[in-house]
Amino acid sequence: MIEVRNLVKKYGNHLAVDHLDFKLESGKVYGFLGPNGAGKSTTMNIMTGYLGATEGQVIIGGRDILKEPEAAKKQIGYLPEQPPLYMEMTVREYLEFAADLKKIPRREREEAVEEVERLVKVKAVEERLIKNLSKGYRQRVGLAQAVLGFPDIIILDEPTVGLDPKQIIEIRELIRRLSKEHTVILSSHILAEIREVCDYILIISRGKLVASDTPENLEKMLGESDTVEIETETEPAVIEGALKNVPGIERVVVMEKTDGIIRAQIHEKKGEDVRARIFSAFAGRGLTLLTLRRLSVSLEDVFMELTQKETVPEAFIKKQKEIAASRTEEQPDVEDQDERQDSAQAEPKMEEDDPETVELRDEDGEEEGDDSSL
Ligand code: ADP
Ligand code: MG
Repeated sequence: MIEVRNLVKKYGNHLAVDHLDFKLESGKVYGFLGPNGAGKSTTMNIMTGYLGATEGQVIIGGRDILKEPEAAKKQIGYLPEQPPLYMEMTVREYLEFAADLKKIPRREREEAVEEVERLVKVKAVEERLIKNLSKGYRQRVGLAQAVLGFPDIIILDEPTVGLDPKQIIEIRELIRRLSKEHTVILSSHILAEIREVCDYILIISRGKLVASDTPENLEKMLGESDTVEIETETEPAVIEGALKNVPGIERVVVMEKTDGIIRAQIHEKKGEDVRARIFSAFAGRGLTLLTLRRLSVSLEDVFMELTQKETVPEAFIKKQKEIAASRTEEQPDVEDQDERQDSAQAEPKMEEDDPETVELRDEDGEEEGDDSSL
């Protein structure tokens, strides 16, 4: 269990983390979601003891990260946004070094390193210098370092940034596999990524926690959308004519025409339901409708609503409270666990590339600056 209490971080006058308060249960996958600059990395750096807080507390498995840093940190594996890789070391040397830092006993070291090398598929490149690896491989090495020793909690800051789609799928599968036995916390500014793997999402905006719930509940919070979509074979000018005098319509947006079918979105004025009126308007003129439906609210809408505006909409806060109140107990339901089991059984498909085809970095010095992060 992880507890973050009233966490504040100021950089000079800038409030990067603004009174964050949350508890995370063991065994789930949590996603920190927020736009760039929201305060995700700062929060993770504080949670892992890499950065001091201005105010507040972080308790990891009952241990305060400041008062008992060693006991607290021992439970965490961390992949920071810029993994602290030593460019002049080989993969194997680096992982053995990391095992040393984690105080993995000497006799278990070989086995521990072998195990993570197999898990993230870097065994084939273990003799290569890290500086000669591609971004994807470096990210795997960083991940191997985080997972080494299999701490209870694995924290990954934007683990898929800079990776190609295939590598992203591989990392995602690895996260699913790890989630079987570990609490995983990952951050991303990309919604689709978080929704794929997380049981629970914490949306952070301007240093504040603006929402935290399951993806499904978050979608419920905005209520119904105010957009009705129609499909028809009627020409745009005729659609507009038919809808012109229908009360409650804010505006009509004709979307596209495919195979002679036109799709249009009708935005309603606040509190109106214009579906029946649209139907009558069309039927009254002898026009046909192929589809008439209210669009559903997507997690995307929720994310935009919460992170683009200065304040969280009141309706959202109200709904959030209602859902929290109606929730009986905070226990993961059985269905969830079954799903987890299924995906965990599937072997991750991270492919072990032939070492000969491992992409090598251009010797153009473009990445020289990386050494500064050591
Ligand atoms: P995220 O990871 O969500 O993109 P960060 O935690 O990196 O956000 O940054 C949060 C805010 O704090 C940003 O406005 C960023 O510019 C600022 N910030 C981060 N690190 C520093 C620092 N070392 N000094 C000053 N400001 C910082
Ligand atoms: Mg960040």
